[in-house]
Amino acid sequence: MTTKAKAKADDETPQDISEAQPTEVTQSLCGKPHFLPALTHVTCTQPEPDPDLPPGTPDHQHQHLDGDALYIW
Ligand SMILES: [Zn+2]
Repeated sequence: MTTKAKAKADDETPQDISEAQPTEVTQSLCGKPHFLPALTHVTCTQPEPDPDLPPGTPDHQHQHLDGDALYIW
């Protein structure tokens, strides 16, 4: 009877990649300024809308947190 000791190459631990960690995908922000002329410095910090959305899709709710003030428009 022959027993085949198969090498477990699959169990090899990957090399230390601590120095080459994949950078987080930083999604670009919407950046849309507030519609009020006095608040144009307030820009939306929500993720940019998906460009694949069909035309006519309503905008998301723009938000900007400035200290304790949360602007939603
Ligand atoms: Zn927005």
